Amino acid sequence: MKKKGWVITLQYPSYIPFMTYADNRELRKKLAIAFGAKGFQNNALDNQENVLQIVKLRHERAQLLGYKTHAHFVLEERMAQSPQKVENFLEELLEKAKPAAKREFEELSAFAKKTNGIEKLEKWDSAYYTEKLKQERFDLDDEKLKPYFKLENVIDGAFTIAERLFDLKFTEVFDIDNYHEDVKTFRVSDSKGLDVAIFYADFHPRPGKRNGAWMTSYKPQYVKGGKNERPHISIVCNFTKPIPAKAGISKPSLLTFNEVTTLFHEFGHALHGMLANTTYPSLSGTGVFWDFVELPSQVMENWCYEKEALELFAKHYETGETIPMEFIEKIKASSTFMEGMQTLRQLSFGLLDMAWHGSNPSEITDVKAKEQEAFEGTNFYPDVAENCMSTSFSHIFQGGYSSGYYSYKWAEVLDADAFAYFLEKGIFDMEVAAKFKEHVLSKGGTEHPMVLYKRFRGKEPNPKYLLKRAGLLQKD
Ligand SMILES: [Zn+2]
Repeated sequence: MKKKGWVITLQYPSYIPFMTYADNRELRKKLAIAFGAKGFQNNALDNQENVLQIVKLRHERAQLLGYKTHAHFVLEERMAQSPQKVENFLEELLEKAKPAAKREFEELSAFAKKTNGIEKLEKWDSAYYTEKLKQERFDLDDEKLKPYFKLENVIDGAFTIAERLFDLKFTEVFDIDNYHEDVKTFRVSDSKGLDVAIFYADFHPRPGKRNGAWMTSYKPQYVKGGKNERPHISIVCNFTKPIPAKAGISKPSLLTFNEVTTLFHEFGHALHGMLANTTYPSLSGTGVFWDFVELPSQVMENWCYEKEALELFAKHYETGETIPMEFIEKIKASSTFMEGMQTLRQLSFGLLDMAWHGSNPSEITDVKAKEQEAFEGTNFYPDVAENCMSTSFSHIFQGGYSSGYYSYKWAEVLDADAFAYFLEKGIFDMEVAAKFKEHVLSKGGTEHPMVLYKRFRGKEPNPKYLLKRAGLLQKD
């Protein structure tokens, strides 16, 4: 290629930073419109017919199996159970989040006007001015936080928290074979010395390793012939590798705050796997309904924002100083920044998903019109005629999220509600932790998630705790 300058693609690692940081509004517009026009250009790669065909075939299958719609078929084996429940859930959150979102939109519009004389905020201004306003307001830089999050300290923190809550001890061992020298292996036991699990942690990138972070199980827990076989559980991440001591220079692996919450998230999934205590492997640990599986992982992230927990591990790697409280306050405040608009966006995708899958699609002929109808009342930005979301909404048309997009918010409601119980009694309260372990973590998919959850919490989850945590409700 003999081009001058930079090539920006529509892939996320290229597109997102450009939309967030590029000062040139015309180029942002060009890229945003190109991004939104994927599969919607009346050419050989247009997806409108595919969208219609997919929803019609899904509907036909559901009818053959005796269900009213595809959503009825899918949701039967979900915690939410019915399309009506999902729709009510999304609508309720929408109504609650909308006033905050409207305030934020007005605030952002005013900021863009003041900064660059923008008269009308468009979609391609959103990420850019949000980031600028965030920087102005919080002055929170990853580089300032990282020295407090040395990888070894964060792991120890997660272990200590698991010890205090769930009576687990982690001992690093070197007598068990694993697949790479970077992988650390731990024997997990309880205070009585009984084996709970083997835990592997594979933290650093290397050639050939997949991106991202996940939990996996090499051997699930199960009972056979009266013997409780304990599981082998692993978490895999991609954190920067430490620089080994050489010529006087060495640097440990320091995590961004986002990586800290990622580690806690995956560790939460791992606890679900390690504390499993059921008979059948298919129902053990994370073998639960899809909209329930993120509860143990997301709830663990909450400890990362609490002073009492951070004091255990967030210490400067050179000075040993505990992270200053003002940093924590800033992390908390910035985590809910523009949360109203974010929430509206997530809800609009959930509603679009339900619009495609929750009714009889045989009469639909116009993809864009159907989409606009579903998005009604969820967006403050002007519509872009050249753009359509559905034609590239691979989550629901290609991946497995059809009738499942609501799960993201659903899981947040669950984890906020569960953590509210901890906050009420104390984030290290042994009784609440014991209930969580007994009724949620150890039970896997042996009973309906709502039954398990109610046994832990004493009642159904209430969305008010999520709205409160997200700063979308007046504090009471
Ligand atoms: Zn997860």
